[in-house]
Amino acid sequence: MGNMNLFKLLPKVDELLGRDEINNLMLTVPRQLILEAIREEIEVLREKIKNNIIEEELLEVLSTLDVKIINNAKNKNSFKLKRVINATGVVIHTNLGRSIINEKIMDNIKDVVIHYSNLEFDLLNGSRGSRYSHVEEIITKCTGAEAAMVVNNNAAAVLLTLNTIANNKDVVVSRGELIEIGGSFRIPDVMVQSGANLVEVGTTNKTHLFDYENAINENTAALLKVHTSNYRVLGFTSSVSSEELTELKSTYDLPIIEDLGSGVLLDLSKYGLEYEPTVQDSIIKGVDIVTFSGDKLLGGPQAGIIVGKKKYIDAMKKNPLTRAFRVDKFTLAALEGTLKYYLDENIVIKEIPTIRMLTEDVETIYSKAIYLKSLIDEVALDFIDVSIEDEFSEVGGGSLPLEKIATKCVVLSINGQSVQSFENNLRNYSIPIIARLYKDRVYFDLRTIDDNEISIVADGIKFALDQLKGCE
Ligand SMILES: *Cc1c(COP(=O)(O)O)cnc(C)c1O
Repeated sequence: MGNMNLFKLLPKVDELLGRDEINNLMLTVPRQLILEAIREEIEVLREKIKNNIIEEELLEVLSTLDVKIINNAKNKNSFKLKRVINATGVVIHTNLGRSIINEKIMDNIKDVVIHYSNLEFDLLNGSRGSRYSHVEEIITKCTGAEAAMVVNNNAAAVLLTLNTIANNKDVVVSRGELIEIGGSFRIPDVMVQSGANLVEVGTTNKTHLFDYENAINENTAALLKVHTSNYRVLGFTSSVSSEELTELKSTYDLPIIEDLGSGVLLDLSKYGLEYEPTVQDSIIKGVDIVTFSGDKLLGGPQAGIIVGKKKYIDAMKKNPLTRAFRVDKFTLAALEGTLKYYLDENIVIKEIPTIRMLTEDVETIYSKAIYLKSLIDEVALDFIDVSIEDEFSEVGGGSLPLEKIATKCVVLSINGQSVQSFENNLRNYSIPIIARLYKDRVYFDLRTIDDNEISIVADGIKFALDQLKGCE
């Protein structure tokens, strides 16, 4: 029971607060967080004493107490939502923030949000304006649609569209298109929430135009086409294109709604990727309302964009749900900045990071890989092997699910050490690095690593290796 005396060795909270380095920390870290850190670190020591730590060891732990408290407090004070490096090669990575924004448009976003703005003010007439007006013109210009509006995300766009057009009425959808997107967006569930009544037609693999036609009655409000963005039905299949659906419009006065999901504005097949239907195509074919995401292939902020016939968009603007789904000025400023690039296709592939990464050629990626490998080779550790290998990147975000884009990865194998610990250390680096772990090797895909991130990745790898050596 000599242990009881050890508690007396623990410093008091006030004394710790008075120590120079901890005291100085109060200039940058709120006192409350420092107190929490002190109490936690003391509690750790109490537990050790209860578990019969010997005096010698306790004294040794006590000598590092201040450093532990300072690190703990700094950690508490750090931002929880922060930048990471995406080394996965999945370009539109939903868990890592989907599309990233070009730094050049940040100036205007900053200007708008740190000052007052004309968010809902008409500068021409000095009267109340609409927040949607700022982006409507550029969206219609880029898509060829008559009218446009923007809500929080595409899920909200689909819900608002169905609720406005088809509350208490039937909406006809093919069974092959009753999709689920990650994060619990399911067409049948969205239908229920919108008040529309889902009428399923066709089968999983085949739906014909007559299936839609047979389902139309006096209670039908719309025909819905959903782009199966995150999977493909292959083999013995047939589906009705939105163009064919519009043939029914001459007989029945019904709007065709299309949920495009990704909503790309340029033909990616020109750049060697699989063709993904563009918003302009749907509008030209006569689809009445098209909805798509702002942060998938468009490469902008999270948003749901609705384009189409003015009479439907006007009705949506009056729907009370619009107030609940409304976007704020950060989104509008980021979206306007992004869309301005779309006025010139040659600029799009340079300035929209998502499109730039997807179309980056393998030679450029290879030279980045060579550079990263050379930085890692500098550390010359005998227990690691570094190579450059041919691999495939993915589009991600549930877009172009079958597309495998050739890329180059720097691949690290670690002998006699836990590769899981290494990967864990990478995630705990000051700028966390998210890499791909596969069969005990760690892959760094240079497609999603920017030029100026390569040295950070190398430093992160050195840090993660050092930590391993530390626990040998
Ligand atoms: C991604 C997607 C959605 C959901 O869009 P969010 O912007 O994530 O809300 C809806 N429909 C389709 C077809 C999609 O691909």
